[in-house]
Amino acid sequence: MRYVSFVDRDGRVRPGIIEGEHVREIACATLVEYIALSPDERAHRHTLNTVPFKDLRLSAPVQPPRNVMCVGRNYLEHAKEGARAAGRELKLPDVPTFFTKAPTAVAAPEATLDLQARISPEYDFEAELAVVIGERCKDVSEDRALDVVFGYTCLNDVTARDLQRAHVQWFKGKSLDDCAPIGPWVVGAGEIGDAQQLGIFFRLNGVEKQRSNTSQMIFSIPRLIAELSRGMTLLPGDVIATGTPEGVGFARTPPEFLRDGDVMEVEIEKIGVLRNRVRIT
Ligand code: MG
Repeated sequence: MRYVSFVDRDGRVRPGIIEGEHVREIACATLVEYIALSPDERAHRHTLNTVPFKDLRLSAPVQPPRNVMCVGRNYLEHAKEGARAAGRELKLPDVPTFFTKAPTAVAAPEATLDLQARISPEYDFEAELAVVIGERCKDVSEDRALDVVFGYTCLNDVTARDLQRAHVQWFKGKSLDDCAPIGPWVVGAGEIGDAQQLGIFFRLNGVEKQRSNTSQMIFSIPRLIAELSRGMTLLPGDVIATGTPEGVGFARTPPEFLRDGDVMEVEIEKIGVLRNRVRIT
C-alpha cells in the first residue's frame, strides 16, 4: 500500500491510503499516529471519504517525531568522490557515520524550496532511500531489523556545503528550512520486497546526475537499524535516510551548486519520483 499525507480544504494535514486514482482518508490525526498502531489495529482502523488524487496537494507523508536520522558516506563511490574533492585520503569507518537533520527542515513533494543566497552559496542535492520505522523498538538484531520497518520513501538530503564544512558537525549545514523534502508517499515494506535492490536516481532539470542501486550501500539497512537501536529507542515514524550515491554537485569538476529555478528529481525504483523546484532569493 501507498500512504500519503495531504492538505484538506480546511488546510489541515490528513493521512490517507492511495486506491487507484483516489485517496482514502484514514481516521487518525496523522500518518505517524496510524503507523504507531499495531498491524491488527491498523487493519481495523476505519477509513473516511475518498478524494480524487489529482485534486490533492501533498504534504510530506510523515512528519517525523524528532530529527531525521541520516547516514554519511554509505555508498563507496560517494565516499571516494567526497575524499577526492576534499583532497583527503579515503578512510572508511567500521561503523556508520550518523548525523541528523532538524524536523523543521522537512518539505513536501512538489513544493518549491525557499533557499536564501545570503545563508549559503553552496546548496547541493543528495538522493536517498528513507526508511520509516513502524514501532517503538530498541536493541533490534540485524535478523529482526526489517520487522520494525513500516515502509520506504524518497528523501533529498539538501545540504549547504559551506556550512557543513564550517561548523564541523554537519547538523547546521543539513538542517536549514526546506532542506529535507520527503515523499511523494510511503510505500509499505511488503510492497517493496528487497529494499536492498532498488535503482536510485537523481535528475537536475531532467539531466541525470546520480544513478546507482541500494545494493551499493556500505552498511545495509538491517545493519543501520541494529546500530542505531543499540541502547537507543527508535520511535514509530522515525525516518532514517540511508545515504547518497556518487554524483553530488560539490564533488563534480567544476562543482555544481543549485540555482534559482532548478528542478530536482529523486527517483527510486518501486517508490516513485520526489520532485521539488528550487527558489533562491
Ligand atoms: Mg546524505
